[in-house]
Amino acid sequence: MTTPQSWEARAEAATLYGFTDLPTIHARGTVVLTHGEGPYVVDVHGRRYLDANSGLWNMVAGFDHPGLTAAAQEAYARFPGYHAFFGRMSDQTVMLSEKLVEVSPFDRGRVFYTNSGSEANDTMVKMLWFLAGAEGKPQRRKILTRKNAYHGVTAVSASMTGKPYNEVFGLPLPGFLHLTCPHYWREGKPGESEAEFVARLAAELEEVIAREGADTIAGFFAEPVMGAGGVIPAPEGYFQAVQKVLKAHGIPLVSDEVICGFGRTGAVWGCESYDFVPDAIISSKCLTAGFFPMGAVILGPELADRVQAASEAIEEFPHGFTASGHPVGCAIALKAIDVILNEGLIDRVRELTPMFEAGMARIGEKANIGEVRGRGLMGALEAVADKASKTPFDGSLSVSERIANACTDEGLICRPLGQSIVLCPPFIVTEGQMAEMFEKLEGALDKVFAEVA
Ligand SMILES: *Cc1c(COP(=O)(O)O)cnc(C)c1O
Repeated sequence: MTTPQSWEARAEAATLYGFTDLPTIHARGTVVLTHGEGPYVVDVHGRRYLDANSGLWNMVAGFDHPGLTAAAQEAYARFPGYHAFFGRMSDQTVMLSEKLVEVSPFDRGRVFYTNSGSEANDTMVKMLWFLAGAEGKPQRRKILTRKNAYHGVTAVSASMTGKPYNEVFGLPLPGFLHLTCPHYWREGKPGESEAEFVARLAAELEEVIAREGADTIAGFFAEPVMGAGGVIPAPEGYFQAVQKVLKAHGIPLVSDEVICGFGRTGAVWGCESYDFVPDAIISSKCLTAGFFPMGAVILGPELADRVQAASEAIEEFPHGFTASGHPVGCAIALKAIDVILNEGLIDRVRELTPMFEAGMARIGEKANIGEVRGRGLMGALEAVADKASKTPFDGSLSVSERIANACTDEGLICRPLGQSIVLCPPFIVTEGQMAEMFEKLEGALDKVFAEVA
């Protein structure tokens, strides 16, 4: 289907793909895009796709928000680049830090900037290791996360990620421990109530801490709703139970809000939706509404004081990226936060959630949809060969890839994840566009289930 000079062939010739199913690309060609319009993206052939995944969770204000584009242009015209080393930083960086602390659940704190979510998690781990050394507990280095968690791709954040694909890199590194995934539908035992499931997970955490030794553990990281693990909302009471155990042992709880932060769950933070206050927050993706690569570690008061004291003791915190706190990125983030919080985007998430949930529930009635789950404007539909026994389709059928490809043919972008299909539309979608999303998805599901079921 591709000629040697086609965009598809050129895309394949010189680019090494990340997280891309290569047989699909060989068979179908890359979708090469030129621009976006609201929640749609347009390819080199002029085909439009409704992007039900907001790019990669992040383009929550759509692909052509005029206020964000103008803020970026103004910032580039004023100060196109600077760092935040050696006692210098841009005025935009100062203002963004104040804003992030203001909108955080903390009454005071400090912010450290990175270029991505992975680097923000990596930086947080280095901060915890720095504290371990500085506070005379050098053995306090182990990191606890959950199976199926996604925390990024650097050597450390991939070690935190609880996915089997990291085995090909010889990861995780030693000292990264993965607890049970808090997915009640899949992991709950027959006859076990949700409350009993939560109690079992808290007991497991207690056992792991007892086995490893509390003074060997640097921190516990968790996404309020697991994103790339398949959109898995925490069960009722989970964070309260886990935090109680962590507090008793002096282990910090870090909320990885790279997806949940800035509105996705219907509150500013996922921890707000789940009613807990962590010791630190990791932010990225929606921080700039996807208009600039940026990540941030937001430390609550206690960790901020400890990292500051440890840094004072050796006269610096020896860490940072060349583009940390980039003035253009900070200006865009300030505008993005303003757009999300003050121009009604977060209200829009709350308004759209009932329609989103109703659409998902309707599709969930299909014989081959085992579970429908989500929170706010993030959801997943898990395909099963048999609903009653929750038996997945044979992996060789690539059911979720086929569904996603059938959607692409219909002009809808949505992502296969395991045997699930993920939906996380931009916050600016209209009711009509939401209806279009479900209509196209349903067409694709019916087509693929007719082939495989
Ligand atoms: C995407 C993601 C990351 C990694 O962010 P990158 O910018 O891709 O490095 C970390 N944590 C969570 C929860 C994410 O969804």
